[in-house]
Amino acid sequence: MATKDISRAAAALGRKGRQANTDAQAAASRANGAKGGRPRRIDRIERDIDGWWIYLKPGWVVCDERTHAIVEETKQAALRKMSLVEPCACDECRRLQGGAA
Ligand SMILES: [Zn+2]
Repeated sequence: MATKDISRAAAALGRKGRQANTDAQAAASRANGAKGGRPRRIDRIERDIDGWWIYLKPGWVVCDERTHAIVEETKQAALRKMSLVEPCACDECRRLQGGAA
């Protein structure tokens, strides 16, 4: 990115103030759900030799696979699968949520 573009963007941010900052935070959150403002369906995101793992919080499941975690080769692909996450009330989820054992 050219320096001119950066200063123009900074100027735009300055003009928009608080609102722009919120937008930037939302974008950062979408880009890497591991930081502040992470979606509440995600417990944690980890990377290992199998790829990027998204561990869902109790009460959520990937609807097509009935699993409580997502693994994909890229973080983007893993985050895309979040669109398949739906509420889950299986025994394990209810136990982990602290409901009646
Ligand atoms: Zn479940």
